Amino acid sequence: MEKKRIPKLIKELTKEHEVFAPVKKESLVFFEKVSPGSEISLDFQNTTKSPKEVLFPQTEILFTYDIKKNGVEIEKAPELRKKIALLGIRPCDAKALSLLDKFFSSGDHKDFYFSEKRRNTTTIGLACNRPISTCFCTSMGGAPFGKEGMDLLLQDINDKYLIETVTEKGDKLVEKLPWLEDAEKADIEKARDLARDAERAVTSEISGMSVTKKLDGMFDNPLWDQIYKKCLGCGVCTYLCPTCCCFDVLDEATTKWKRIRIWDSCQFSCFTLQGSGYNPRPSGKERMRQRIMHKFNYFPKNHGENFCVGCGRCVQECPVNFDIREVVEGISTDIWRKKNG
Ligand code: SF4
Ligand code: SF4
Repeated sequence: MEKKRIPKLIKELTKEHEVFAPVKKESLVFFEKVSPGSEISLDFQNTTKSPKEVLFPQTEILFTYDIKKNGVEIEKAPELRKKIALLGIRPCDAKALSLLDKFFSSGDHKDFYFSEKRRNTTTIGLACNRPISTCFCTSMGGAPFGKEGMDLLLQDINDKYLIETVTEKGDKLVEKLPWLEDAEKADIEKARDLARDAERAVTSEISGMSVTKKLDGMFDNPLWDQIYKKCLGCGVCTYLCPTCCCFDVLDEATTKWKRIRIWDSCQFSCFTLQGSGYNPRPSGKERMRQRIMHKFNYFPKNHGENFCVGCGRCVQECPVNFDIREVVEGISTDIWRKKNG
């Protein structure tokens, strides 16, 4: 597809979908709802906030209700059947959606709100030609041209995008775009070369896949006393993370009662604070341990892979330069164990 066809693609998508795509705001890029004619940015490293919030918003009204004399009357839940198209999602963030599928849709605890939106979402990804120094997707089972979580993958081959269909949903979408041109052999070879170069450009390598076993039996290890010290508990890492999904549920009364879900963070002191005043995670030590253990021990044990995709946002944006790669690498290679016994 010639690059100049992007507005046409958006126009086609908006016929059936709410379309979200990267939009530049000053020096930052965010996923926003777009319409034909919107100016989108497909020349970016990654968005500042992850696109998880399209499916799992920071604040979400689950339903409204009235308290009547005879009991509670629940009103209609918000419309979740709208089709969504996520255009320009990067491979790390698409992989994160697959992990969120596991979190929100596995076992007996299927989350209706996330699952419905996810079922109605088509991901039209954008391969990453220029990974940056904080990226470590390849250490987390991903790749700059990775297809996990994608329905279609756009690969930037200079003046055109090579479009690869990944799922049946992607095939069906392509059928609705008869103006796409057949790819030439040279286009496919070009994309293959770019994918290889991009993978080589991910210079951060950590032993991410071996950390799970290492963390077994380290719950009471003195290393946690060291690791957490510079953390401010601001929660930026968890809010920007494409896989972090802790939330709180509360009821709010204005003109009507609303049940609302809001993002929460394991790095906040009140996250586990109980009504009695007791807090099982009273200091930053326990809270940082929870973040690392959940991502690299509990989640892999339950779902078979790390709960981190190596997008590097937490490394880039932490105000005190806490680097999760150093922690994971230190644990994987026993540096922390040797230091701390
Ligand atoms: S962004 Fe940094 S300082 Fe803030 S909670 Fe995360 S690790 Fe701690
Ligand atoms: S933990 Fe950090 S690097 Fe891993 S997915 Fe979350 S924000 Fe990205």
